[in-house]
Amino acid sequence: MTSSLPQVSLEEIREEVADLETPEERIGYLIELGQTLPDLPAEYQTEEHRVLGCQSMVWVVPELHDEILTFRGTSDAPMVRGLVAILISVYSGRSPREILEFPIEALFEELRLKSFLTPMRSNGLYSMVQRIQAIARAAVTASGETIPQPKPSEPSARSTPPTISIEGCREDFPILSQHIGDDRPLIYLDNAASSQRPTSVIDCLAAVFQTHYANVHRSGHDLAVATTVAMEAARESLRGFVGAQSADEIIFTSGTTASINLVARAWGDANLKPGDEILLTEMEHHSNIVPWQQLAARTGAIVRWLPVRDDFLLDLDALGKLLSPRTRLVSITAVSNVLGTINPVRQIVDAGHRVGASVLVDAAQAVPHGSIHAAEWDADWIVFSGHKMLGPTGIGALYGKRDVLEAMPPFLGGGNMIRSVSKAGFSPADLPHRFEAGTAPIAEAIAMKPAVEYLQRVGSRFILEHERKLADRAMKGLRGIRGLKILGPDIEAKTGIVSFVVDRIHPDQIGQYLNAMGIAIRIGHHCAMPLHERFGLSASARASFYLYNTVAEVDTFVDAVARAVAVGK
Ligand code: PMP
Repeated sequence: MTSSLPQVSLEEIREEVADLETPEERIGYLIELGQTLPDLPAEYQTEEHRVLGCQSMVWVVPELHDEILTFRGTSDAPMVRGLVAILISVYSGRSPREILEFPIEALFEELRLKSFLTPMRSNGLYSMVQRIQAIARAAVTASGETIPQPKPSEPSARSTPPTISIEGCREDFPILSQHIGDDRPLIYLDNAASSQRPTSVIDCLAAVFQTHYANVHRSGHDLAVATTVAMEAARESLRGFVGAQSADEIIFTSGTTASINLVARAWGDANLKPGDEILLTEMEHHSNIVPWQQLAARTGAIVRWLPVRDDFLLDLDALGKLLSPRTRLVSITAVSNVLGTINPVRQIVDAGHRVGASVLVDAAQAVPHGSIHAAEWDADWIVFSGHKMLGPTGIGALYGKRDVLEAMPPFLGGGNMIRSVSKAGFSPADLPHRFEAGTAPIAEAIAMKPAVEYLQRVGSRFILEHERKLADRAMKGLRGIRGLKILGPDIEAKTGIVSFVVDRIHPDQIGQYLNAMGIAIRIGHHCAMPLHERFGLSASARASFYLYNTVAEVDTFVDAVARAVAVGK
């Protein structure tokens, strides 16, 4: 197909651009280059070949011949035609594997055109690259080969020694140096409800509003580009944190609850019918119960429950009896927000997949220590919130396997989630935007990057070890208090969450007493009423430790509980 071959070689482009000093000269050159692009016959200018490009129309047409891909393409905007010409020079005549491995960012950096390679939709270059890479990825998959993996952007938090010491990190959290109530130093032990934020996250939020805030993925001016780039960098850091293959698999949502509701609406409404079954566990948070009960009410599906044993672990023996070809969905928490129990996620995911069910993992309590592994878990969806992992409120994510997300219709409709709209209807945007209707919490999304970086610098292994050291000490101390019962398994099977009840003393009384001592813990059903009902309780007290808590705080807490119990009896 000679007509598709580049008119100008990559080497010629390199030489020409090297002499261009100013951005104006480079734009002029792109327009000239666009004129060398052969016309694309009208029959190829179809929706199938169109690439999302907000302010211009762009088409890219692939052809695979003898394991080599060639591309034709065009745009109705003269400068964008120049960018299409560069991409055709770069990618035509290469194998799909070579395309995936080509260092495209480095090339645009070298050409001093990197500012065009942003997720902004104004010129569409980023989307064109993504489209070409998706075509190459599909060709690699069809040939049965493994897809070259993107290089992890961050070092593995699990193995790298910390560059922030747990002991020294308290000063990074300004809120912790407060005195409250009767001038007592704050002891914050309500981390499972929400963590505190380090200065890097707080400063990032302020910096966005002070220096580089504009709406994202829309306008092409510098401020909008900088904001979009920062938001996409945060998405990429979450990709690395979660271990996803592509940043397209990370959808920004307002948090765990929103992510689960999104799946229930988008996937559930399209896939469930009367008599289908949804399997939950008795230790789920209401966020991982109510959306499925609502879905069941809409579709006639039935909710089933995997029991929790007396030792506070899931009854995995019951899995075999509960799972059947009727099971369409299994939705489980990775870590219980009341018991701290760490569940064997992969085992449950595999069991669900064996009967053909899709599996969602609620990782809200796993993210705080980075114990979240898309590839190892193999779940179809993983959901979590930013505010429990040092990030801002109002932001979280839905990770989904690419093919699973692509098969889901969009849930919320509006701006940003469309490819095109006419009076007759709309076609949805590609991932991840098809699930991100409207203006996102932009600054909050951007500030997820310093949150992830902080967790990675401390390291998930070190956070979990520290939490366990504190939880173990607390449990040993609490066990010495008469009438006190700890709700949760042995320390090896749990995180730093310690819930308890005391005979004949309402948890609220303990909470009030501790509050007066400057100690913040959570009292109530912790949004897990079925779990409390399972153990014949209506409420419990919960202390949850995190990376910035100290041994001294644990001792003060245990002492205070002992005194609250003594006063109460
Ligand atoms: N699932 C679990 C296990 C949780 O601990 C929480 C928060 N307590 C949620 C879901 C809900 O998270 P959010 O309120 O951030 O949506």
